[in-house]
Amino acid sequence: MASMSIRSYAFCSTIKAKKLVIISAGALGTPLVLERSGVGNPEILQKADVEVVAEVLGVGGNYMDHPLLSYPYKTSLLPNETVDAVNGGHVDIKHLIATNASILSWNAIDVTSKVRPSDAKAAALDPAFQTAWNKDFKNDLNRPVVIISSLNGRPSRPSSRPVPVYVIVNPYSGAQIDITGSDARAPLDFQTDFFPMSRMSIPSSPYGHTKSSARSCAVWTHPPFPAEPDAACKEFDGPLNDVEDIMYTLKDDAILDQWARQRVGSTWHSMGTCKMAPQSEFGVVDATLSVNGVKGLSREYPSGDMITFQLSAKE
Ligand SMILES: Cc1cc2nc3c(=O)[nH]c(=O)nc-3n(C[C@H](O)[C@H](O)[C@H](O)COP(=O)(O)OP(=O)(O)OC[C@H]3O[C@@H](n4cnc5c(N)ncnc54)[C@H](O)[C@@H]3O)c2cc1C
Repeated sequence: MASMSIRSYAFCSTIKAKKLVIISAGALGTPLVLERSGVGNPEILQKADVEVVAEVLGVGGNYMDHPLLSYPYKTSLLPNETVDAVNGGHVDIKHLIATNASILSWNAIDVTSKVRPSDAKAAALDPAFQTAWNKDFKNDLNRPVVIISSLNGRPSRPSSRPVPVYVIVNPYSGAQIDITGSDARAPLDFQTDFFPMSRMSIPSSPYGHTKSSARSCAVWTHPPFPAEPDAACKEFDGPLNDVEDIMYTLKDDAILDQWARQRVGSTWHSMGTCKMAPQSEFGVVDATLSVNGVKGLSREYPSGDMITFQLSAKE
C-alpha cells in the first residue's frame, strides 16, 4: 500500500493507493517536490535544511519559457476589425453565438512573421549575440530569433482600435527554480533570467523591422527615446510611402535594452526543470522516466518539466 500526505492551505490529508501514487506537478512544481524529498543539488538542499537522499544536480535547472514583449499601436482599424468589443464585454456573446457571427471563428491574429537578422546585421551585434547566433541559428535557416504576431485587439485593456505586436524571443531563457526551506510555504528561489547573457544587448533590428513596417501607426507605451532622433514615437495620419529603416543610436539601444528588461513577460510555457538526459548533462530522468541515480523512484506520467529543449516555431 503506497501512501502520501498532502497539505493545502485549507486541509491536510493522507492519500492511500494499492499500487502507486503518481506525482506530476509540472515544470514549476516537480523540482520543488523532489528537492523537499531530498533529491537535488546537495548545496541547495543543505541551505534549505533538507537531508540529502540523492545527489541529482539538474533538479530545478534548465528552466525555459518563451519570453514575450508586447507593444500596442494606434491604428485605423474599424471596431469590427478588432476583438476589443468581445474582450471588453461590449457585445452580447449569446447573440453572437445565435447568429453564428464570423468573429467567433477568428483568433485575431492575421499575420505572424519569423524574423532573423541578415548575416551582415548579425555581425554588427555584440559578442554574446554572435555566440548564440553561431551556435543555434546561423546554419539553421528556418529557425527564427523572434516571432512577431500582430493581434487585432488589446486583451488587457480593451479600448479603441489598438493592435499590440507580440515578440517571442527564442530560445534563450535558461534559469533555475529551487526551494529555500523544507516547508512547502517557504519562499522560492526563482530567477526567470529571461535575458541570461547579462551583457547582451537586445538587438534593435527586430524591433526596428516592426516599427518600420508599421510606420503608419503611432506607438503607445513606446520606449522613451528622446524627441528628435529617428527612433522617437511619431504619429501619422494616413498611409506612408517609401518608409525607410530607422537608424538607432547607441543611446537608443541602451534605452531599448532597459525598456525590454522592464517589460518582458512569460507566455506560460514553463518547462525543462527535470529534463530527460544523462546525469552528466544535468539530466534528472532517464528514458524510462526513472529519476537518475535513485532506485525505485520513477515518474509515471510525463509533464513539461521533462522537456529538454524549448521548441521554436520551426519544430
Ligand atoms: C494562460 C495559459 C495559456 C496557455 N496556452 C497554451 C496554449 O495555447 N497551447 C499550449 O500548448 N500550451 C499553453 N499553455 C501551457 C500549458 O498549459 C502547459 O504547458 C501545460 O499545462 C503543462 O502541463 P504540465 O502537466 O507539465 O503541468 P501543469 O498543467 O502545470 O500541472 C501541474 C499540476 O501539479 C499541481 N502541483 C504543483 N505542485 C504541487 C504540489 N506540491 N503538490 C500537489 N500538486 C502540485 C498543480 O496544481 C497542477 O495542477 C498555457 C498556459 C497558461 C497558464
